[in-house]
Amino acid sequence: MLQITCPWCGARAESEFSCGGEADIVRPLESETLSDEAWGDYVFMRKNTKGVHKEQWFHASGCRRWFNAERDTVTYQFIRTYPIGAGASGDSHGAD
Ligand SMILES: [Zn+2]
Repeated sequence: MLQITCPWCGARAESEFSCGGEADIVRPLESETLSDEAWGDYVFMRKNTKGVHKEQWFHASGCRRWFNAERDTVTYQFIRTYPIGAGASGDSHGAD
């Protein structure tokens, strides 16, 4: 069974989590001046990376907190998880 390491609760079964899609999507600051195409890109367009990428996860059946994870989309291996905002140098937890 795949386990995901919540930064607050530790390693838990995958069934306790929900994926929230790609991480680090920043809402445009001046949305009033954004073109329809640029707004559509922000809302709908994602990278769909093959390999390691960052995504958001929600510990729905645990602490109910969001966190980020680096995961390999080819092997499904979680490389690390970390609190949102901790970034590349933040407190991280490897996969188990
Ligand atoms: Zn948790």
